[in-house]
Amino acid sequence: MTIFEEVKEIVDVPTAARHYGIEVRRSNICLCPFHNEKTPSMKLYKRNYYCFGCQAHGDVISLVQNLFGLTPIEAVRQINNDFGLFLNVDKPPDRADIQRINRQKQKREAYQQWENHAYKVLNDYLWLMRDYAEIYVPQNPDDIPDSRFVYSQHHLSYAEYIADEFLLANKETKLSMREEIEHIEQETERLKRS
Ligand SMILES: [Zn+2]
Repeated sequence: MTIFEEVKEIVDVPTAARHYGIEVRRSNICLCPFHNEKTPSMKLYKRNYYCFGCQAHGDVISLVQNLFGLTPIEAVRQINNDFGLFLNVDKPPDRADIQRINRQKQKREAYQQWENHAYKVLNDYLWLMRDYAEIYVPQNPDDIPDSRFVYSQHHLSYAEYIADEFLLANKETKLSMREEIEHIEQETERLKRS
């Protein structure tokens, strides 16, 4: 494995883009940093990016190269430093390096899985609250409101708030919300059963 392949293996394009201040939206779309635009036309894939406006494209190394005007090896050094990869840019990786790289990769993937799950939990909860608010709305002013409607009135704003909060948070803040999200997951299951 060359140092270039290693870097591409460890750091995916959306992660790097976020790290360098590009605001990545849902479905991994963003404003192209290489031409002026108001509507995002750059699509980020795990290993590549492509701009439908100016046709800029490449991998994580060329992204960093072009963002900072670097040569390929300088971009590798930059990523190595900024992501704390501790790769030895000047010698091929030995077995210990490869083990460490794999561990880092597993950690990243485990985090990514948890993050996806957390998005789903918050989204489920939000939609449950929206459903309750809509389906169980009292038909007449004199009706005793359904308990699910009452619940939604107390929790809909919270559900919207926390979903937004999570979406905009950085990794550290997301992780600090872990317990709250577990609680929401249990609560959603309880509500769905009742
Ligand atoms: Zn572009």
